[in-house]
Amino acid sequence: MTQSKRVYIAYTGGTIGMKPSENGFVPEAGYFTEQIKKLPELSYPEMPEVVVHEYENLIDSSNITPDDWYTISEDIKANYNDFDGFIVLHGTDTMAYTASALSFMLEDLSKPVIVTGSQIPWAQMRTDARENLITSILLASRYDIPEVGLYFHNRLYRGNRARKTDATGFHAFQSPNFPALVKVGSQIELNKEIVLQEPSKPLKINRIIQPNVVVLSLFPGFSAKMLKSVINSGIQGLVLMTYGIGNAPSNQPDFLDLLRKADQSGIIIVNCTQCLKGGVDMSSYQTGRELLNAGVISGYDMTPEATLTKLSYLLSSDCTIEVIKQKMQTSLRGELSK
Ligand code: ASP
Repeated sequence: MTQSKRVYIAYTGGTIGMKPSENGFVPEAGYFTEQIKKLPELSYPEMPEVVVHEYENLIDSSNITPDDWYTISEDIKANYNDFDGFIVLHGTDTMAYTASALSFMLEDLSKPVIVTGSQIPWAQMRTDARENLITSILLASRYDIPEVGLYFHNRLYRGNRARKTDATGFHAFQSPNFPALVKVGSQIELNKEIVLQEPSKPLKINRIIQPNVVVLSLFPGFSAKMLKSVINSGIQGLVLMTYGIGNAPSNQPDFLDLLRKADQSGIIIVNCTQCLKGGVDMSSYQTGRELLNAGVISGYDMTPEATLTKLSYLLSSDCTIEVIKQKMQTSLRGELSK
C-alpha cells in the first residue's frame, strides 16, 4: 500500500484568513484553520493529509521581520522529515520578500515550500483563496519541486524571482526575468527543465540577523548629502536602485566619491535596476562604468527583494566581504542569470 502524502501548512496571517472589522481587515485566530480542516476538496483521493499550524500571533505581512522568517524556517525544519511538502500562508504585501528570504535561509532544500495567500479573504464571496490554496496543496504534495516557490493565480514562480506588481488584481505577482516553474490551467504543466536540482546534502537553516542594509532609489535631483547621511548611519550594505541598465549620474563627483569611500570602508554596494524587467550591465554606458570604478557590484537581473534578502543573508554569515561580493554576483538559488 502506498503511503498517503502529507503537507504541512504554516499559517502566518495575511488577507487570506482575515475578517472585516471596524478598523478594516484583520486576522482572526482559529477561523481560517477551521475552514481549511473542513475543506471538502481534502476528501478527494489525490489530496494529501494536511496539517495546519496556525501561528500564535497572526500578522498582516506588513509587520513581518527577519525573526519571523527564522520562526518559519525553524518550523519547516522541525517538521521536515514528516511531510512531503510545505505551504506558508502569508500576506501578499511582503510575500516576495519572505519567499526570497526563505530561499536563502533554507539551504539544500529537497522538498517544495510554497508561499501563497490571496487578494480577497476566504470569508468573502469572490475570494481567490480557494484556488490558490487547493493548487498549492496539490503542488506541494505531488510534484518534485525542491525549492521555495510562490504560487498565485495559476502560476508557480521561483520565490526569489517573484514581485508583487498589482495591489488589487488577482494576477498580483509576476516573475519578470524568469519563466514560471508551473503553469496551471486545465492541465498542471511543470517546467522540469528549469526547476532546481535536488541537493545531496541535508537541509540547513541560515539565520538572517536584523540587517544593516538599506535600499535607496535614485531620482533626478538626488543629492550626495542624502547619500552621505545614509552611508554614515552604520550600514553594512546598500542596494542602489539605478536607472535602466544600471546607470547613475556621472556628473556629480561628490556622489561617486562617497560611493568609492563607502566601498573602501567595507560597505557592500549592489546595483539593482529600477526597471521591472531586465538587469544591470554597468559596462554599457559611461554613467554605469563610473559606478563600476567606484566599487559598486552588479545585481544583474535580481529583483530588489532577492537582492536585499540575499545581501542580508550573506552579511549574517561569517563570509568575508570579498566572498560576499563574489556570492552576490553568483547564482546561489537560481535568483540571477548572467
Ligand atoms: N495587507 C495584507 C498582508 O500583506 C495584504 C494581503 O495579504 O493581500 O498581510
